[in-house]
Amino acid sequence: MVTRAPCRQEFEQIAGLLAKCTNVVILEHEKPDGDSIGSGLAFALALSFLGKKAALLSQDPHPGIYDFLPGSHLHITAASVEAGDLVPELAVFLDCTGPERAGTVLEHVKGKTSINIDHHVSNSMFGHINLVDPDASATGELVFFLLRVMGIPITRDIATCLYVALVTDTGGFRYQNTTPRAFHVAAELIDAGANPSQVADYLYETKTLSSVVLLRDALHTLTLHSGGKVASVDVTSEMVKNAGALFEETEGIIDYPRSIAGVEVSLCFKENEDRSGVHVSLRSRSRVDVSKIAASLGGGGHPRAAGVFIQGSLDEVKGMVLEVLGESESWTDS
Ligand code: 5GP
Ligand code: MN
Repeated sequence: MVTRAPCRQEFEQIAGLLAKCTNVVILEHEKPDGDSIGSGLAFALALSFLGKKAALLSQDPHPGIYDFLPGSHLHITAASVEAGDLVPELAVFLDCTGPERAGTVLEHVKGKTSINIDHHVSNSMFGHINLVDPDASATGELVFFLLRVMGIPITRDIATCLYVALVTDTGGFRYQNTTPRAFHVAAELIDAGANPSQVADYLYETKTLSSVVLLRDALHTLTLHSGGKVASVDVTSEMVKNAGALFEETEGIIDYPRSIAGVEVSLCFKENEDRSGVHVSLRSRSRVDVSKIAASLGGGGHPRAAGVFIQGSLDEVKGMVLEVLGESESWTDS
C-alpha cells in the first residue's frame, strides 16, 4: 500500500524550484534533534542523488548518538561556507518555527530564496514557499512525501535517516502525534531498508556512562510543585562538568519527572556553561499546552514538548517559569 500524501500544492512548487537550482543549503535548528538531523541528512542525500551540491548546515554539532546515521559527510559547519566551499542559491529550513531557530548560521543564507518545511503549529510562515503541516508527526514525514513527489528513490540510507526523524519526534511512537499516517510512512521506510531494532538499539539501548551519571545527579534535585501536578529537575553546569558529560546528554532527563503518576507538567532547567542563562525544557502529559507557556517567555515548540532559553541565574529563571505556570489553568488546551 502506498501512503497518501497530504494534498498540498507546495510539494510541486518545491520540486519545481529545486529543479532549477544546483547549490542548496539545508538548515536545521540550533541544538538539533533527531527530526532535524534525520530529515536534514535524508534531504541532503536525496539532493546529492540528483547530482546537486547539497549540504546540511548547522550552528551546533550533532549529538554523538546520531553518529551512526549515513550522510554525515554532507553535514558542514559555518567555516565551510565562509571558505566558499558552498555558495548557496537556495536555503531549505527544516523543523524551524522561524528563521531565527537556525541560530548564527542564518547570516550565510540572508537574502536567499527560502523553503520552509516544518510541522510546528506556531510556524511563522517565513519562507518563499511554506510546506507547514501540523498534522505531520515529524518534519521527516513531510520530507518523505516530498521525495516521492520528486521521484527520488528512498534508498536504505535515506530510509534510515527518515525513520530516525519519525521515531524520535514521536517518542518511539508513543506521543499523541503518533498517527496512522506516521505508522504507514514508517512501514514504507522499513520496507525501503530502515532497521527498527538496530535504530532502537543505537538511540535507546546504548548510553554513555557520563549521561547516566548526569541523570543520577539531576534526579537528586527532583522537586514537586503545585500539589504534585508539576515536577522539575535541575541540571547545573557543575553537574555536567563533574559527569564529564556534554550538554546534549541532558536529552531525555525530563522524561523521568513527567512519568510520575499525577504529574501534568515537567520542567528541566539546564544551566548553560557560563551560567549566564538557562534552557528550559517543558513537557506535558495531556492537558496543558506547554508551547503557549514557552511562547509567553520567548520560546516555542509543540503542545506537549516545548522549550525556551532565558537569560538569568538558575533561581531567577525557575522563579519566572514557575510563576507563569502558576496560572496554568488558563493554558489548558482541552
Ligand atoms: P527541548 O526541550 O527538547 O529543547 O525542545 C522541545 C521542543 O521545543 C522542540 O520541538 C523544539 O523545537 C522546541 N524548542 C526548544 N527550545 C526552543 C526555543 O528556544 N524556541 C522555540 N521556538 N522552540 C524551542
Ligand atoms: Mn520536529
